[in-house]
Amino acid sequence: MENSLINLMSDTVTLPTEAMKNFMFQAPLGDDVFKQDPSINALEEKASNLFGKESALFCPSGTMTNQIAIKCHTQPLDEMICDEYSHVYQYETGGYGFNSGIGVKLLKGSNGKITAEQLKSSINGDFDWLPKSSLVVLENSCNKGGGSFYTLNEIAPITKLCQTEGLALHLDGARLFNVLVETNESTEDVGKHFDSISICLSKGLGAPVGSLLIGNKDFIKQARRFRKVMGGGMRQAGIIASAGLYALNNHISRLKEDNDRAKEIAITLNECSYVTSIRPVQTNILIFDIDARWTAESFLKELEKHGILAVAFGPQTIRFVTHLDIKASMVDKVRSVLLKLDQT
Ligand SMILES: *Cc1c(COP(=O)(O)O)cnc(C)c1O
Repeated sequence: MENSLINLMSDTVTLPTEAMKNFMFQAPLGDDVFKQDPSINALEEKASNLFGKESALFCPSGTMTNQIAIKCHTQPLDEMICDEYSHVYQYETGGYGFNSGIGVKLLKGSNGKITAEQLKSSINGDFDWLPKSSLVVLENSCNKGGGSFYTLNEIAPITKLCQTEGLALHLDGARLFNVLVETNESTEDVGKHFDSISICLSKGLGAPVGSLLIGNKDFIKQARRFRKVMGGGMRQAGIIASAGLYALNNHISRLKEDNDRAKEIAITLNECSYVTSIRPVQTNILIFDIDARWTAESFLKELEKHGILAVAFGPQTIRFVTHLDIKASMVDKVRSVLLKLDQT
């Protein structure tokens, strides 16, 4: 991708910085299937300590950490409960059915967020003919919800309900740190509310590859077996895991900049007559609808002529994501192009 391009397609497009690459090339390495990679061991220990959990597991992707978590928390004929916008339902190729043999109950939340009341009425009774409700998955921030987020005060009643009803609670925290820089909540407090947590290193944190699954010792022991059978047992993978370690040490607090830049772009979108609505901008994701002057496709083509890349999220819907490689000057350019498109 040319440097002059402004790539708002996703925060997965970030490239490793020079400092990150230097750190990677100096990383001590070993065979992680034998648990002998010091860099992976250090990353997993850092992650489990951050969240006050016993253990963690480095995986190639967030799809794999979520799928392993679902597999660990359920048995075939069970059901997981999540919002209809959830990544685990929308964007993981139906893996809950394929890998775990379970069904899904979808709740209609508000911008991807569900409540304990909704959850309560969706838990199945103990009958032979009903799938067994055994797992709840929350996503924070919620991608398809426009980067919306839960505070821990909103999550606490859900945690309590899951505990009384005997349901496991998993957090898809692909972009959790974009939330925590807004709420100033601690990772340790997040850890107390969930049985397992997935975080992505390859999004706004800026690592090229990798996600972490975090939980207690027995859970991660089982997760390691599922990672192996899915083909995710990697050897000298410390070469990539060290990028994640660097990111956790250096790239968390700067995520606030990404969130602020998304809000700046939203101010301009509000001034554009072709924009009919914008989902509330809370973190680094902007989802907006455009009127009949454009289709999502023609709008994206127009943006591309100005060196700006984004993705369609529906026939009249566009998503922008800000990240490590979107600098202040690029935000200025995006804002001026958006205004210019209003004059055509
Ligand atoms: C990106 C993402 C994932 C994981 O995606 P991979 O591309 O498999 O790493 C999981 N959940 C959410 C909400 C995401 O945005």
